[in-house]
Amino acid sequence: MNFVAQNGSAKTLKDINLRKQPAAVGVPKNVPVGEVISFTGWVTDGEVINSNGKWFKTKEEDFFWSGNVEVLSSPVVPKPTPMPATVSAFLSVPIQAMDGVGKPVTPFTARIAAILDHEMTSLDPACKIPYSWGLRAKNKKVKAFNGEIGDGISTSAPPYGYTKIVPGPFFSAREINYVGVYDQHDTYSSSWYLNYDGHCGYDFSYSIGTPIIAPADGDLSRALVNDPINGNNKAATAWDGFHSFYIDHRNGFFTWFLHCSNLHPDIETKLQVSNKVFVARGQIVAYLGKVGTMGAHLHFEVRDKNNCILDPYADKLWL
Ligand SMILES: [Zn+2]
Repeated sequence: MNFVAQNGSAKTLKDINLRKQPAAVGVPKNVPVGEVISFTGWVTDGEVINSNGKWFKTKEEDFFWSGNVEVLSSPVVPKPTPMPATVSAFLSVPIQAMDGVGKPVTPFTARIAAILDHEMTSLDPACKIPYSWGLRAKNKKVKAFNGEIGDGISTSAPPYGYTKIVPGPFFSAREINYVGVYDQHDTYSSSWYLNYDGHCGYDFSYSIGTPIIAPADGDLSRALVNDPINGNNKAATAWDGFHSFYIDHRNGFFTWFLHCSNLHPDIETKLQVSNKVFVARGQIVAYLGKVGTMGAHLHFEVRDKNNCILDPYADKLWL
């Protein structure tokens, strides 16, 4: 169920029914005309009546349909910003490491522990929390890295670092074919591999201290305020919470990096006197860490200027 949390209230314009599920079925509870009902949000995937209805949820977990009520404090449904029609490829891999045969990793050979999940809610049926980034994502489908999963696309080659094994029931029922295997270089346990659970970026799984390199030229800044996508992890700023920093690529697009252990000392020095510093593609900007998270990895996102998340694989942004 796609639940959008937003407190508000509605006045009944005629007798209406409350129900325990977001559809016109089940045992109704009558509410007479003229009453004011508080709601905590609404679901976007309940039964739609007359093609424009939505189902509000009360504190008591009852649902009522938006028809025949007047919304008093009108909630605003956040709308995804339209994505640009085409974006040219401009990114190289943000990790400096070797692959299994001694070559520098590419976006298609780098070890990835979690991919972008475009769903508004997690793919995990046990998780009911809507994620703000999901509303900003381009669509509600999982797009795959390497083309081997998602949207029905499939290739014979497994992604680097992953083995096709018999997945558990959760994975086998979905568009996911690969489950990762533990690698001695990783600080994740094997159960963390290819985690799609409500995830808004790509996790590159490498050891602490692995260089993070600028994927394109741009201006690097620490995230010194609230990050609208990932928040602050209860710290004063997104930098304090997750060591979040970003690069403004001066083309309307930004790359975001979370969890680094520290920035490169030269950049650190320059940021003492300026809130942004120019970096060139391939330059070491930081070192991989696990700040604000449990396992060492680089969480990497590509965003447009409205903080809409793009998928560098599906949108073909890799050079
Ligand atoms: Zn992540």
